[in-house]
Amino acid sequence: MSKQLSKTFLAKQKNTIEEEQKKLTLQIEELKKEDPFADPDHASDNAAVDTDVREQVGHDTVEAEIKDATKRLVELKAALELIKKDRYGICERCSKDIPQARLELVPEARFCIECKKALSK
Ligand SMILES: [Zn+2]
Repeated sequence: MSKQLSKTFLAKQKNTIEEEQKKLTLQIEELKKEDPFADPDHASDNAAVDTDVREQVGHDTVEAEIKDATKRLVELKAALELIKKDRYGICERCSKDIPQARLELVPEARFCIECKKALSK
């Protein structure tokens, strides 16, 4: 378990993560409504080609945003698991403590900044 993090801090992070999860879940629901393909009239409308293109672009954007939000949800869930297992705040690559300031900024962070940099190369 990470030595640097207090119980208070962990409780705060847990809260932040859960709030983020709620926000993202709502966001995904909203995005799904925005998807032009979700429009029940869509299948029956034989609109002009430019409308179809616009709908396709809109659909792709919404889909990409949903994908990002879903990915983040998975990461947040994993972070909650780590809190439960007392392994939160420890870099998964080098096993060093992830600085508290970084966790405040990115509550789902699983790597220290050095490892994150090394991994994204
Ligand atoms: Zn590391």
